Amino acid sequence: MKYTALKGVHDIFPPDIHIWQKVESVAKDVFTAYGFQELRAPVIESTDIFIRSIGETTDIVEKEMYTFTDKAGRHITLRPEGTAPVVRCFVEQHLYNLPSPQKFLYSGPMFRYERPQAGRFRQFYQIGAEAFGVAEPKIDAEILSMLKLFFERLGLKELNFEINSIGCPKCRPDYRKALLDFFSDRLEGFCPDCRRRYDQNPLRILDCKVAECIKLREGSPHVTNFLCTECREHFEALQSYAELLAIPYAINPEMVRGLDYYTRTTFEVTCKHLGSQNAVAAGGRYDLLVEDFGGPPTPAIGFAIGMERITSLLKLSADQDIPSPKVFIAALGESAGREGLVIAVRLRLKGLWAEIGYAGNSLKSQLRRADRLSAQYVFIIGDDEIRSGKVKWKLLSDGSQGEIGFNEIDTFLAVPPKA
Ligand code: ATP
Ligand code: MG
Repeated sequence: MKYTALKGVHDIFPPDIHIWQKVESVAKDVFTAYGFQELRAPVIESTDIFIRSIGETTDIVEKEMYTFTDKAGRHITLRPEGTAPVVRCFVEQHLYNLPSPQKFLYSGPMFRYERPQAGRFRQFYQIGAEAFGVAEPKIDAEILSMLKLFFERLGLKELNFEINSIGCPKCRPDYRKALLDFFSDRLEGFCPDCRRRYDQNPLRILDCKVAECIKLREGSPHVTNFLCTECREHFEALQSYAELLAIPYAINPEMVRGLDYYTRTTFEVTCKHLGSQNAVAAGGRYDLLVEDFGGPPTPAIGFAIGMERITSLLKLSADQDIPSPKVFIAALGESAGREGLVIAVRLRLKGLWAEIGYAGNSLKSQLRRADRLSAQYVFIIGDDEIRSGKVKWKLLSDGSQGEIGFNEIDTFLAVPPKA
């Protein structure tokens, strides 16, 4: 019998895993400097949580959720995104009683029943962050600058920061009406989904990826021309902070994002090297969601980074740090093998990566393995070395070699090689 992974999911293993771990550690370092602390929410939640927050007429809820009933008949969904679970926790655990702002980061798998293709999976990973309690646009700019630093630390360039404001319940009805007027005489040409969206949720038409729909919506009214005074001031202040912090942004008045909970600021970070699935991070403000979940009025903003898309960009760059052993201990014969094992275990106790050869491997094949692993040093132990109490060492990077006593190994390895 042959077992295979499900369609649209993927395994992550060495050497790629090292890129993943690097991205995770850079995110943790950068986000920590901005005051974000980790929050781990479950992967499963009540289905209502997502319907309520993401919106009934969004692609995620209409088509993409992994929903099932458990043995007790509860409706459960594998989280398609990370914001709703964090907000659920924030409200349920009364985290709003803690001093404001509260800032959280999360990472882990998300699940969406999408058509698998490059950059699009059914189980994919995100790193995200959510900041609660600040209404002023300064924090919107801080979030953008945090993302900028994150991408810079990873050496990713040629990224664009697209920003927009999609207003609030005060100004959005006017915009909605303008959109309906604009689309009314050309509705026939749109895809069936968009024709349905026209009645249910016309903003969603702006997010449709069907070529004809993209063409037909050319010249549609821009939300930025319909903002109320408060939303306009918020958006202008965000831009001035973004300039202050040298964030290379562009306003994209057509970016509405695929989730209904956003208010005011929305943004996407895109990279031109990624083809059509080019968004590497996306987010926005959701000033009403905490209240919607039964908490006190709490402005909030967050984003999520798509791990697969970041790691595929990093794989394009030449220098990848794949970890390698500090020392490979090649041994010849039973007693040398025992000595090598003891030395290796002692070095590992100190946190050094030590590898050993195994019985039946010739010296040549052990050295080949050391080479393939890119070990820094090779130690060779045979009967002569056991008798003299010394090991032969070789620095693989320049071929230099010598001898040291068994009891000098720790100090020897503590000194960085000269090469
Ligand atoms: P898209 O327009 O590409 O479908 P989205 O609006 O559905 O994106 P978000 O919900 O904003 O995406 O998720 C944030 C990020 O997570 C995206 O920018 C992307 O990098 C990543 N992402 C979303 N869906 C997938 C998926 N199915 N597979 C891999 N990564 C994904
Ligand atoms: Mg999507």
